[in-house]
Amino acid sequence: MPSIASQLIHWHKDYGRHHLPWQGNRDPYAIWLSEIMLQQTQVNTVIPYYVRFMQAFPTISSMAQAPLDSVLALWSGLGYYSRARNLHQAARLIMQDYQGQFPESRMLIEQLPGIGRSTAAAIAVFAYSKREAILDGNVKRIFTRHFGIEGYPGESKIQNLLWEKAEELLPTDYGKGQIETYTQALMDLGATVCKRHMPLCGICPLQRHCVAFQKNRVNQLPTAKQRKPLPQKETVFLLLMYQQELLLGKRPPSGIWGELWCPPETEIGTDIASYCQRYLGIKIQSPIQLPILNHQFTHYKLRIHPQLIPVISSTLTEKNKFIWIKPYDALKKAIPTPVRKLLKQNFLLDDHAFTI
Ligand code: SF4
Repeated sequence: MPSIASQLIHWHKDYGRHHLPWQGNRDPYAIWLSEIMLQQTQVNTVIPYYVRFMQAFPTISSMAQAPLDSVLALWSGLGYYSRARNLHQAARLIMQDYQGQFPESRMLIEQLPGIGRSTAAAIAVFAYSKREAILDGNVKRIFTRHFGIEGYPGESKIQNLLWEKAEELLPTDYGKGQIETYTQALMDLGATVCKRHMPLCGICPLQRHCVAFQKNRVNQLPTAKQRKPLPQKETVFLLLMYQQELLLGKRPPSGIWGELWCPPETEIGTDIASYCQRYLGIKIQSPIQLPILNHQFTHYKLRIHPQLIPVISSTLTEKNKFIWIKPYDALKKAIPTPVRKLLKQNFLLDDHAFTI
């Protein structure tokens, strides 16, 4: 029987994806950027971001020289902003420690911020043809189903078993391009056939020996994590408007939305007028309550209570941390998704219609 690697390589020729913008490129920087963007994000969402990033920062040195704010602004809307901060920091480290040359070995790549073992392996494979195993979410799903592995794949015992499988299955015939095609085939099979919901087992090249398929357990594998209900937090966003401009403040580097621009925040029940006067040096008219916006993070849910607040006068005290900006221009800054939604939902982004 042909090995799994050779079946996948064969399958990929006719059914794999061949035209993604980062494919056919040996530039480790481009591969790295695409791999980081693709974490937790669909290909179709990533493509326009990837194209814009490569235009703005075509090399490691251009990314390293750019201010973090510009990198975050381009990343805005893609979520998981620590990915962008780590990219920027890693680009600076590569300039400093490797004279701008992306390291070749998987072990060295893995030392860079924000790059785990699987991503490091993918870069080593696609840029340098190294014989390394990947194990991203898609691959874990294929292996748990194909080998009928029970247990949550995030548990270290299961994870170790999956890494062993990943190493064992690497193609032994180490011909030209074999490792790249095999790695891409695994990624493509997970994304297009062995999908999380409604996998297309009928056209899967691995169906004959797939344990989950034979035992009718495809929908039970991989084993889901035991989830507790997510805690919920509340916050009040102060959308302060003065002379048709909105007040945004830069958040501290650590914590959620680090270094992104957001409206000032306060707790529910705060006296907003005294808060604005005392902490911002701003005198306001009565706030107008806007519809609540719900946002979900990995570890909790956030209920945002936005208040639209016309400002009477401002002697803003911490000027360097804040900016007054037209809502339309704010969309071009590094702002988190819920702020983007609030701007789009609550402001007519047309100078004629904007009246506060
Ligand atoms: S047969 Fe179905 S479950 Fe098994 S690997 Fe293929 S797509 Fe996944």
